[in-house]
Amino acid sequence: MAVPVPGLGLLTYRLPAGTPPPPRGARVVVPLGSRRVVGCVVERHATAPEGAELRDVAAVLDTEPFLPADVVDLALWVGEFYACGPGDALTVAMPPAARRGESDAFRLRVRVFPGQTPDTPPRGARQRALLAALDGHADGVLQSALAASGITPDVVRRAAVAGLVRLSEEVDERDPFAAGEGGWAVSSTAVDARPLTDEQRAALETLTTAADAREFRPVLLHGVTGSGKTEVYLRLARHVIAHGRRVLVLVPEIALTPALAGLFRATFGERVAVQHSGLSEGERHDQWHRIRRGVVDIVVGTRSAVFAPLEGVGLVIVDEEHEASYKQDETPRYHGRDVAVVRARMDRALIVLGSATPSLESATNAEAGRYGVIRMTRRVLDRPLASVRLIDMRREIAATGAETALSAPLVEALGQRLAQGEQSLVLLNRRGFATVIFCRECGASLECPHCSVTLTYHRAARRVRCHYCNYATHVPRACGECGGAFLEHSGVGTERLEAEVRERFPHARVARVDRDTIRRRGAITRVLSAVARGDLDIVVGTQMIAKGHDFPAVTLVGVVAADVGLGLADFRAGERTFQLLTQVVGRAGRGEMPGEAIVQTLHPEHYSVQAAAAQDYATFYAREMEFRQAMAYPPTIAMVNVVVRHRSLDRAMADAADLVARIRHRRVPARILGPAPAALARLKDEYRVQFFLKGRQRRPMRDALLAALAERPDLRRRTTVDVDPVSVG
Ligand code: ADP
Ligand code: ZN
Repeated sequence: MAVPVPGLGLLTYRLPAGTPPPPRGARVVVPLGSRRVVGCVVERHATAPEGAELRDVAAVLDTEPFLPADVVDLALWVGEFYACGPGDALTVAMPPAARRGESDAFRLRVRVFPGQTPDTPPRGARQRALLAALDGHADGVLQSALAASGITPDVVRRAAVAGLVRLSEEVDERDPFAAGEGGWAVSSTAVDARPLTDEQRAALETLTTAADAREFRPVLLHGVTGSGKTEVYLRLARHVIAHGRRVLVLVPEIALTPALAGLFRATFGERVAVQHSGLSEGERHDQWHRIRRGVVDIVVGTRSAVFAPLEGVGLVIVDEEHEASYKQDETPRYHGRDVAVVRARMDRALIVLGSATPSLESATNAEAGRYGVIRMTRRVLDRPLASVRLIDMRREIAATGAETALSAPLVEALGQRLAQGEQSLVLLNRRGFATVIFCRECGASLECPHCSVTLTYHRAARRVRCHYCNYATHVPRACGECGGAFLEHSGVGTERLEAEVRERFPHARVARVDRDTIRRRGAITRVLSAVARGDLDIVVGTQMIAKGHDFPAVTLVGVVAADVGLGLADFRAGERTFQLLTQVVGRAGRGEMPGEAIVQTLHPEHYSVQAAAAQDYATFYAREMEFRQAMAYPPTIAMVNVVVRHRSLDRAMADAADLVARIRHRRVPARILGPAPAALARLKDEYRVQFFLKGRQRRPMRDALLAALAERPDLRRRTTVDVDPVSVG
């Protein structure tokens, strides 16, 4: 049995005599220490293990499997591969309410029917009104509808007691589409309305043949932005469903889910369910149970949807497969794309990994022949890719002297689009107003008291805030170091960029999209629909505006600082920069009018920037793989990142060194780098010390590490193990 406790292996419990044995995948309540927790049955033994003192199962919650068998298998695989243990992995496979053992978190609604005893005369005007309202409605009327016409639940209840009416309860499924969430994308032309391009047709043909094989087939769909991958997904999904199998679609971010989910909903109607963390717990619960009951054919969701209890999966689609957000950054640190590949293998399904900028992992798998590959090299209707102009900001700054967010060419281009009634996106991957506040006298910058990062100035909130731990405070009047009174800010964030854009173009309709502005549910959908309707002229934002969206009227994309990511001490910095630039440039010119991109950078000669400007994936791939090979980074080797935390730096260092010594002692076939303070050396008052294992195979590295941790159980709680890390800050 697996219980949701980090790092714990499987536990064994005794079933009290007379209790019917729960099947694999059923939930049970078990004692654990002084607590009671909900666990999931994964194995049954006829006899107790030798010499074990077993505690009793307290309650059996399900007589049927709650999780289907393949989802249990998948979760167990995750628990092992990511070295987190089965309990954590099974926890993400369940909807939140189910983890707490609430099996009846459904919302019920009451339907009111005319009563069976007509000899009871109605009393009073209200009861007569109630009967009148029910008259002719043999199927009953919802209590909520009666309430809307002034008949209160109390009146209904009394009438029921008197036998005038009869009540029944039914499950009220919360439909996330009803809120208009999925609505805005539906205007896009649905399947079949237009002929496919040659490349789309060829891709679809190859993929339907692969799906019909009913075997595990991984395929990389490498299609430039605007090549029409979505249309291929939709038609492929329809083919698979028509042949009696089901479809799982993964998308990277909540912001993208309404768009794609909306398209699928417009095409396939009621038989689509969505799963993502932007849903309320109730909606998520209802959607999950719809999937479990087998009434949907398609699930669209973010990474945890890879565990959806969908049976008979014949096709898995991972859209924008290169996205870092597929990797969960807390335990279990699984990669949604990689788990999807494993699921497709278990289900003997076709899996399509779609991207305009494939991850080096998938591109390498395709190159080695492990994945099939389909290329779509042209945009639909022969629309050209946007032309790209690089602006060397070192020269701009030298010329103007000032720290401007917008270069002269970008201002000019924005003005032109405004005059022509066309839309622009301006990207800056840094939120807030200014990124640093510093003292003019001693040069000290304002840092988070809990983390080793500078605080970001948010002007609207009149506060400085830590983007790592969320610590916030008022802007101080004087420098904390020297008492100097002249505090300045520098470094541009999206908030200041928005202010600058508004100042330059006071008549433009401007919106900003970043984590500060879209906190409220539905906010992102509103902005995106406003763009789609043409109600906005300029949208300023972080990478949230860069991805996946299809805005035909956007003809200009400006990138304010292309190199925000390049300075990071992360081996994927070059790849991220290339992907982000290529994606954002790909937002321009998707409609009838050609697009232009203006990219401001301090490193115009960097190969990531150059290759993105030329939209040249092959050159980027060759250059980046050279670097990974030379430095022994993934995907040329496998890597495990271990972070040990402690309030004392010395203790963190000593503990990490101890783990390293224990691992070395086991003679693992791996190189060990570190321990050393992590790039983010302190977070939430704890020092972070990290080391890396690099080797050809994950298993021996993982085994040695887990063995070392088993010898130091005291370190379990403050050690993070990340297998296949996507960021190593
Ligand atoms: P990608 O996901 O590959 O970047 P999309 O699937 O968003 O591209 O398609 C780009 C645009 O082209 C969308 O507006 C889409 O509706 C349109 N489109 C796709 N296929 C066709 C087609 N066969 N004919 C005309 N327009 C198409
Ligand atoms: Zn902080």
